Amino acid sequence: MQNSISAQIQELKNNIPPGVTLIAVSKFKTVAQIREAYEAGQRDFGENRVQELAEKQPQLPSDIRWHLIGHLQRNKVKYISSFVHLIHSVDGESLLEEIQKQALKAGRNIPVLLQVHIAKEESKFGFDADELIRFLEERKHLSYSQAPVHGLMGMATNTEDQEQVRKEFRELKELFGRCKRSYFQENPDFNTLSMGMSSDYNIAVEEGSTMIRVGSAIFGNR
Ligand SMILES: *Cc1c(COP(=O)(O)O)cnc(C)c1O
Repeated sequence: MQNSISAQIQELKNNIPPGVTLIAVSKFKTVAQIREAYEAGQRDFGENRVQELAEKQPQLPSDIRWHLIGHLQRNKVKYISSFVHLIHSVDGESLLEEIQKQALKAGRNIPVLLQVHIAKEESKFGFDADELIRFLEERKHLSYSQAPVHGLMGMATNTEDQEQVRKEFRELKELFGRCKRSYFQENPDFNTLSMGMSSDYNIAVEEGSTMIRVGSAIFGNR
């Protein structure tokens, strides 16, 4: 028998250290399913599509912290700028510029993570490690005061090879440490490393993740 949503959340929470935030990835899930997780005490939810997020948000309690975890197009930032808690998928300066603009309009800060491409798979999205260092070295991020950078996000290769996954998470953790030491020494807000999903969150936590994004292990497969 499939465990209930609340049982899955409890089990996950029992399995992760207290310093790690669990984000329930609720893409494709109904408002009723999200409410069930909410009633089990879950407050952080992640969606990867703007339209879906913008539709669900008004139907659910206002103390939910909504995370945008998927690729974000500049022209869609405005639909979530009034409420989004953290954007995990900033992959370039032009997006950061737009988030800053919409944050100003909304009269709030919108914290972001910079997405780093760590997997072997080809992907259009995310900074390469050297691109990221160059970006920070040039102090580009400091121009966007209302889109403060709170950390990094990455996705490991989708593979059965656990050692490969571990190696990628370890590299991201090292990059995170290097960025923190070199560019965010005096900024305690740079403290979030978003890595790990249903299939690999155990490894991610062992390698220093502070935020895991878990969908199917909570809600079941579609
Ligand atoms: C869907 C998704 C997840 C969650 O994936 P599961 O395998 O269902 O846990 C995590 N991160 C991102 C960016 C996603 O799009």
